[in-house]
Amino acid sequence: MERGKLCIVVPCHNEEQSLPALFERMDLVAPTLSGWVEGAVEFVLVDDGSTDGTLDALRRLHAERPSVHYVSFSRNFGKEAGLAAGLRKAMELGPGFVAVMDADLQDPPELLAQMFAKLEEGFDVAAAYRTTRAGEPPVRSWFAERFYDVINRISDVEMKSGARDFRLMTARTVRAILSLPETSRFSKGIFSWVGFETAWIPYENIEREHGSSSWSFFSLARYALDGIIAFSTVPLELISIFGLLVCLVALVFLVFVLVRALLFGDPVAGWPSLMCVILLLGGAILFGLGIVGLYLSKVYSEVKRRPLYVVAEEA
Ligand code: UDP
Ligand code: MG
Repeated sequence: MERGKLCIVVPCHNEEQSLPALFERMDLVAPTLSGWVEGAVEFVLVDDGSTDGTLDALRRLHAERPSVHYVSFSRNFGKEAGLAAGLRKAMELGPGFVAVMDADLQDPPELLAQMFAKLEEGFDVAAAYRTTRAGEPPVRSWFAERFYDVINRISDVEMKSGARDFRLMTARTVRAILSLPETSRFSKGIFSWVGFETAWIPYENIEREHGSSSWSFFSLARYALDGIIAFSTVPLELISIFGLLVCLVALVFLVFVLVRALLFGDPVAGWPSLMCVILLLGGAILFGLGIVGLYLSKVYSEVKRRPLYVVAEEA
């Protein structure tokens, strides 16, 4: 494998406190990568509408180090938009190897050497996954595990439980990722969708040292739902199957009611059973309509062709 440039993309949302520690660690790690990396390790930091001093910190870093570049959004557009902007800028700076890493050092940069070793073996992607979810609320872990069970069963792409957005990729992989035009970007799915051989590197979960996670339980649940809608149409198929089953049951019931009425007359009774059926079916119809609506809303936001983010400042 030829040596090449390395550009590390870091999405940052209120990471003022994490950045000094990140660069301290990276300064220790960078020399260990010299066998694979040509020149200085470059950085693209994406300020995703931070409300603390992150942007000032990025300006300062850029002034001090020529290898640090940044993109600053006009508001918070979410981590996915940050990743897309960072990858795009990394490719503009000149193709080479591109790594994606969180700002909070939950992704140990020391793993980069192992990742390069994997690329040397011929892999296009080396990605890290957590073997434990220690330090995470148990309820969150449980739901996360169920999410992976479900998504892997109902979508064609394979998503690895515990996988983080910490990975090293070849330029052709990044080009493939950027070629996907969709606006609702579920990176875990997109990474898997583009294919290429991926080497998985396990590591123990590390808790965030500074600041706090930008994800609440609710935002994670929405994210999971986005992932399912973006990479599977099975929910739509399930509603159709359910509808069909209800029709069949109703048909049998219809025959039963007709025959009974013909043989035994029509005693006016059965209000409770009627109410049960109406309420149950009404609920099922609304539920089904809601799922259809979710897909429709995604189609709507895709056809609007809005850009993924608005850049306020870039250097
Ligand atoms: N992040 C971002 N925009 C957001 C939320 C998060 O760019 O709206 C960044 C954040 O700065 C961090 C990474 O995404 O570098 C992961 O976020 P966080 O640590 O909050 O998530 P967790 O590690 O808890 O999954
Ligand atoms: Mg984190």
